[in-house]
Amino acid sequence: MIPSVLPTYNRAPLSFERGEGTWLLATDGTRYLDLGAGIAVNALGHAHPALVAALTEQAGRVWHVSNVYQIPEQERLAERLVQATFADTVFFTNSGTEAAELAIKMARKYWADRGEPRAEIVTFEGAFHGRSTGAIAAAGSEKMVKGFGPLMPGFRQVPWGDMAALKAAVGPDTCAVMLEPIQGEGGIRTLPDADLKAIRALCDQTGALLILDEVQSGMGRTGRLFAHEWAGIAPDIMMVAKGIGGGFPLGAVLATERAAAGMVAGTHGSTYGGNPLACAVGGKVMEIIADPAFLAEVARKGALFRQRLEGLVAAHPDIFEGVRGQGLMLGLKMRRPPADLVKAGYAEHVLTVAAADDTLRLLPPLTITDDEIAEAALRLDRAAGRLR
Ligand SMILES: *Cc1c(COP(=O)(O)O)cnc(C)c1O
Repeated sequence: MIPSVLPTYNRAPLSFERGEGTWLLATDGTRYLDLGAGIAVNALGHAHPALVAALTEQAGRVWHVSNVYQIPEQERLAERLVQATFADTVFFTNSGTEAAELAIKMARKYWADRGEPRAEIVTFEGAFHGRSTGAIAAAGSEKMVKGFGPLMPGFRQVPWGDMAALKAAVGPDTCAVMLEPIQGEGGIRTLPDADLKAIRALCDQTGALLILDEVQSGMGRTGRLFAHEWAGIAPDIMMVAKGIGGGFPLGAVLATERAAAGMVAGTHGSTYGGNPLACAVGGKVMEIIADPAFLAEVARKGALFRQRLEGLVAAHPDIFEGVRGQGLMLGLKMRRPPADLVKAGYAEHVLTVAAADDTLRLLPPLTITDDEIAEAALRLDRAAGRLR
């Protein structure tokens, strides 16, 4: 008999009734060190007092107002994002997938309005942009698309990081190049700064728009507000979600005025996107994370955690191959299925997330303390010991 909850997830037999910072409390009273943060969502940890206050204050006034009216909380958050980034304008969504859908529509509309519609968006293999029909077509992986055809046309994938293949694929007919600066689901695979610069240059030469998916790598995760800042480049369109709501469903598409020019009244919409509750929380998240001192701390703690992980690799060379990632978006490349370590971690009361390419993901709250990083290394070491 089919479970009452559609079984599209392999769920661990764990449930939590409370969260405090980097810790989750299970229903049996045990405390788990959360190095997954809801897959990079709880950027400020669980039950952050400033977010609880922002949410409850807003909840006592007004929850939802249609986008046919002005929404001051939404305008304030858009203003903050515009001030802190390359973008001139923002559209709010409820998720990363919805942000991907708008990014694709925006790029297509840009070319349609120039009277030279360009159909093809080039992406990297191993990409993840969500599970909608458009997002799975964009990523193109067999695992995600099998059984869901016919696929939305207009996407071409090139092998991950293969710059020669990318250069061959991108030409005067390319609508856009869409990629994650650091692939998350794909296994914490970082594109070198030089490649990001070369892709920006390739887009400038051909006119193709550069769409960056910073749903997982953004909102301070790497020690900069957005990961692309490390390479000193800017996209034309960017998808954001996960950390931006700190746990409240919120996503956004950021764009330059030029890229967004076609998205006039009536071309796109969302019932809930940018609603007052989400934007009240998002505003507080942004206020905390965009502070340069906060971002410097993320970079410092990321380096500390990486050092600890290198120690783990040295101690268990039969299990771990190396460390990947940047800031607090870290991965352990494994010689064993990462799911084995995720499971061993449950026994040590530490939560991690598996990814593709045999990589274990570590995406703790950005508020994790030095002591908690030491504790994380200890628990991961014991979990690795269980695989012997
Ligand atoms: C999680 C993720 C998405 C999809 O976001 P949802 O909020 O699950 O729809 C898209 N892109 C990247 C890079 C992601 O990590």
